[in-house]
Amino acid sequence: MSEIKAVILDLDNTVLDRTSTFRAFAASFVDHYFAHAEHRVKLIEDIVARDLDGYKDKPALFRELLSDYEWTAKPDHEALMNYYRVHYVKHATLMDQAKNVLSYLRSKYRTALITNGMTTIQYGKIDQAGIRDDFDLIIVSEEAGVKKPDPAIFGMATKKFGLTPAQCVYVGDHPVNDIGGAANAGMQTIWLQWTQPWREEVKAKPLHTITRLAQLTNLL
Ligand SMILES: [Mg+2]
Repeated sequence: MSEIKAVILDLDNTVLDRTSTFRAFAASFVDHYFAHAEHRVKLIEDIVARDLDGYKDKPALFRELLSDYEWTAKPDHEALMNYYRVHYVKHATLMDQAKNVLSYLRSKYRTALITNGMTTIQYGKIDQAGIRDDFDLIIVSEEAGVKKPDPAIFGMATKKFGLTPAQCVYVGDHPVNDIGGAANAGMQTIWLQWTQPWREEVKAKPLHTITRLAQLTNLL
């Protein structure tokens, strides 16, 4: 096993508590558009369920809400997209101990973030959480033009660091996008078991499985 020189992390539901972030956004959305709804909690839960843990296309999500909900005054689709772009990132919530974990990792390794998503949204959350300066390198799929699990996006980080993939360990919550993708790029992996169940089609074996980000400081 090569000596580890770099630790590369996923953002959503790895460094950032994406589940709490989106739930807080959904609550603000309901309070804004359905201020007097008696079934406030039900609406919030419904939006969270429809979002599929973040894997639902957002334009499609808001189209669904427009057609399925009873609006007193129906906004247009662009207004909802705008509300999302402005307000979602404001609720960015870090995983427990994330700042400490990041500064610990950076004291020992090169550190990077590789995240799938829209550039403005991902950097919006990164800045709201105050973690932009905690990484040597940040790669967002939209600006990179390639997304996980494509090994090419992992290769961008190793190339930038001048390291071999085997000198990098990748930490993420998604079995296919994170663990399968990084393993196919030749990296070692650590799986953060959070909301995503393991997928049998992923043949890669993570070096470790953790259930909280803070456990990384015992392993690396
Ligand atoms: Mg994730």
